[in-house]
Amino acid sequence: MKYDRVYNFSAGPSILPEEVLESVRDNLLNYKGSGMCVMEMSHRSKVFQQIIDEAEADLRELMNIPDNYKVMFIQGGATLQFAMLPMNLMKNGVADYIVTGNWSKKAYKEAQKYGKINLVATSEDRNFAYIPDCSDLPISEDADYVYICENETIHGTTYQQLPNTKGKILVSDQSSMFLSKPCNVSDYGVIYGGVQKNIGPAGMVIVIMREDLIREDLPTYVPTYMSYATHANNGSMYNTPNCWSIYVCGEVFKYLKKIGGLEVMAKMNEEKAKILYDFLDNSKMFRGTVDKEFRSLMNVPFVTASKETDAEVVAATKAAGFDNLKGHKSVGGLRASIYNAMPKEGVIALVDFLKKYEAENYKG
Ligand SMILES: *Cc1c(COP(=O)(O)O)cnc(C)c1O
Repeated sequence: MKYDRVYNFSAGPSILPEEVLESVRDNLLNYKGSGMCVMEMSHRSKVFQQIIDEAEADLRELMNIPDNYKVMFIQGGATLQFAMLPMNLMKNGVADYIVTGNWSKKAYKEAQKYGKINLVATSEDRNFAYIPDCSDLPISEDADYVYICENETIHGTTYQQLPNTKGKILVSDQSSMFLSKPCNVSDYGVIYGGVQKNIGPAGMVIVIMREDLIREDLPTYVPTYMSYATHANNGSMYNTPNCWSIYVCGEVFKYLKKIGGLEVMAKMNEEKAKILYDFLDNSKMFRGTVDKEFRSLMNVPFVTASKETDAEVVAATKAAGFDNLKGHKSVGGLRASIYNAMPKEGVIALVDFLKKYEAENYKG
């Protein structure tokens, strides 16, 4: 492969479009005639202001974000949001959480520090292999919001339909599905995602929040940095932002626009996922761990009949130039993260390899 790169199936930080990396390389020492690298640049400079403005404008265009939503680039990853959201959104001190995997469970536990948190649905009974029916949940009358993780990166599940929140604000962690398909932003109060899964370099989260949810009257214990108003009122530059991540994310937005936007991206992602799932459904050696209807387009966990065989397959894939296929310890087996930037050829090559491995090693 070009540059001796491997097919990288990492769940995050993860693969980026080669074209973007090449453009970053070409502009590394002298960004568009500025005479310096973006890493060396003042965040108050005109050049950087243009980078962040364009990044926001391109994201707004890609996702068709309505004017009454703010876009914020915040540090601390998606994990900081587990605390920041309840701190900012709680008025009644009550929120309803749907727990469908490790990430929503972490968010659920963190939120308990800040209020009364109700678990309104969970799929833990079957190790999070499905999404529970969310059409008629016991939503609390005084809930300040309803929380979901829309694509569980570790368990490989995704919502086919958003929960019926009975009029309450929906908050969604989209980290591992951000920009993988079109999204109707108005269905949500808040959408957020750590960027290192599907967009750019680690260390930043993008928060898209309905304007009226941003409050100034927060409890005094809330750190200045953890108030959304701080970020919204200062164009994400109250302090020094993650300039590098904002720049590379912006390049990825431009790339997505160039290839035709999220409709096109979604088609490509569906095609890629189908290749892998069709293989798993027809294999005698491997099987997907998620109920078909809730399978993620991005993270595909699968197993063989034994842990020993799983480990052998992981080692064999690595030796053959496919990296980061070891599953998370809570699911075991293997996991292929096939984010936006994974080319179709990468998935085809992996499936060809697994087919051959099965033919040579499966004893029934
Ligand atoms: C990775 C991930 C997180 C945590 O992201 P950090 O940036 O490491 O804090 C949260 N939610 C989901 C769905 C993730 O995939």
